[in-house]
Amino acid sequence: MSEEKKIAEGLKGGEFLIKESDPQSVFIPEDITEEQKMMAETAREFIEKEILTQLDAIDKQEPGLTVSLLDKAGELGLLGTFIPEEYDGLGEDFDTNTILSMEMGSGYSFGVSYAAHTGIGTLPILYYGTDEQKKKYLPKLASGELKSAYCLTEPTSGSDALSAKTTAKLSEDGKYYILNGQKMWITNGGFADILITFAQVDGDKFTCFIIPTDSDGFTRGEEENKLGIKGSSTRALFLDNVKVPKENILGEIGKGHYVAFNILNIGRFKLGAMVTGGAKKFLSIAVNYSNERKQFGKRISSFGAIKYKLAEMAIRTFVSEAAVLRTSGMINNKVTKLMTEDTSYSDALIKAAEEYAIESSMMKVFGSEMLDYVVDEVLQVHGGYGYSEEYPAARAYRDSRINRIFEGTNEINRLLALDMLIKRSMKGRIDLLTPAMAIQKELMSIPEFGEEPEGLLAKEIKAIKNAKKAVLMIAGSVVQKFMQKLGDEQEIIMNLTDMLIEIYTAESAILRTLKLAAKNGEAAAEYPVKITQVYVSDALERINIFGKHAVAAYAEGDELKMLLLGMKRFTKADTVNTTKLRREIADKMIEENKYCF
Ligand SMILES: Cc1cc2nc3c(=O)[nH]c(=O)nc-3n(C[C@H](O)[C@H](O)[C@H](O)COP(=O)(O)OP(=O)(O)OC[C@H]3O[C@@H](n4cnc5c(N)ncnc54)[C@H](O)[C@@H]3O)c2cc1C
Repeated sequence: MSEEKKIAEGLKGGEFLIKESDPQSVFIPEDITEEQKMMAETAREFIEKEILTQLDAIDKQEPGLTVSLLDKAGELGLLGTFIPEEYDGLGEDFDTNTILSMEMGSGYSFGVSYAAHTGIGTLPILYYGTDEQKKKYLPKLASGELKSAYCLTEPTSGSDALSAKTTAKLSEDGKYYILNGQKMWITNGGFADILITFAQVDGDKFTCFIIPTDSDGFTRGEEENKLGIKGSSTRALFLDNVKVPKENILGEIGKGHYVAFNILNIGRFKLGAMVTGGAKKFLSIAVNYSNERKQFGKRISSFGAIKYKLAEMAIRTFVSEAAVLRTSGMINNKVTKLMTEDTSYSDALIKAAEEYAIESSMMKVFGSEMLDYVVDEVLQVHGGYGYSEEYPAARAYRDSRINRIFEGTNEINRLLALDMLIKRSMKGRIDLLTPAMAIQKELMSIPEFGEEPEGLLAKEIKAIKNAKKAVLMIAGSVVQKFMQKLGDEQEIIMNLTDMLIEIYTAESAILRTLKLAAKNGEAAAEYPVKITQVYVSDALERINIFGKHAVAAYAEGDELKMLLLGMKRFTKADTVNTTKLRREIADKMIEENKYCF
């Protein structure tokens, strides 16, 4: 099989749990092309010149500022990177958009306004719009002439989005829908020109509409007084007998959930990319500060406690980037492959978003929790100065917190990830049953120790392969035990998803490092190897704990004993001197005075 073919056929969504990935098939930072680097440079310059120089004014919501900044981003082409050239966009591929999202992730509040406009505010029309809708809106969304917002949440429906109460009723002449209701927490709500809005047609047909905000009966609430991302506009919006032309229905009547959820799938992935980009920048600030600040006559970067923090931030950031780019590459390949099979660009994007929804949910959860960890430690490294508005850590700390809440809370995403995996198995889309049964057999047999693996990260590869068996063992037994009632066992589901996340991220780090070593030589992968060794070692301990909590929740007696034995066997690993490795990782950054992996 040719290399190209192999890559194009990549793993299906969720299959990482039962299949090995070829390191050559993953997308890593060293694969970024010159053209992609130039796009990233444009975004970086824009953030540095236009955003970082006026963060206070943005956070005070100086009238017209964010709107004019979005206009400037539009002039640079940054609002239309997903939009095809025929609609005046740049038509960049999925990977290039991921790299751009990572750059925009260091834009604090502006990053949120930007993401709401270009992501959840624009993609519904690109994905589901008719030709007329695309012609009418996409060029203006790409230039910034129109700003957009995505209105799903209501006062009484957040996580349970489909229970929205906003109504849409066909007018007597059959030309309009009349919308009534209230939307809540809408990003860009203060200035959006169009709203991607969801409402129930005839009481129960959840449907998506494009609503111009100059419509009669539309009003905006006051700005919310928020904990962070103070520069992004967040408002309640009111619809009082708003007449929306029939041709403004997006997608089909009663099929609004497809629009809502597939857009959220991509939104979640993009959030994972943005927080990763943000973490890289904030970590460099911490390294820099720790090299300058002296206490007890020494730079604080010379203290082991600070080195631990710098290294751990770097490890989580590196791993997040590995997993985000790996996922991006899979989505990119799927879109490309579908388009060669004559699927339209829009349909290919929808199908790819659906295929990798499990990975996207995991990237949202892992990335948002990674960034919260990073900004917390960046602040701590700054000591009292971290608590001052004179330094960047305070704003980064406040602004990070929202990421665990929007685009589906992390609880909802954890529940969804496992639910999707099990449903795919039930529907025969991926085969979890055969490997799960093989593991039950393996558990009854005497363990085979085999030969010690050799080669770069060979022990880590073996350990993660084994850890997958732990998930399959528990998933297999809880499906048998609880069947349709598994949904009621949320604590066990959370444990299982956490195990999945550890496995996916650890494997992504291994694959990234192996590909780098193959591409640029083992010396170039010296620090990625150390990072991967620490992460895998810690991940195995966490997997062990999650697994033990899960089995103790439902098994007892001999069954519990056997499952615990399985956990021990499948998460077994050599002890690694993570302290030494962390010191070396930190020392490298201290020498370079930045995050450098
Ligand atoms: C600053 C900001 C910007 C936002 N921007 C937008 C936007 O542009 N467009 C938009 O449509 N929405 C937006 N939102 C809304 C956001 O998506 C919701 O706040 C989020 O989905 C959670 O809904 P909720 O606030 O109603 O919380 P709830 O759904 O009431 O959840 C409360 C808690 O219960 C948990 N929970 C809920 N259901 C379950 C369950 N079944 N099992 C276990 N735990 C559960 C949640 O995880 C959470 O911890 C924004 C919110 C904020 C704060």
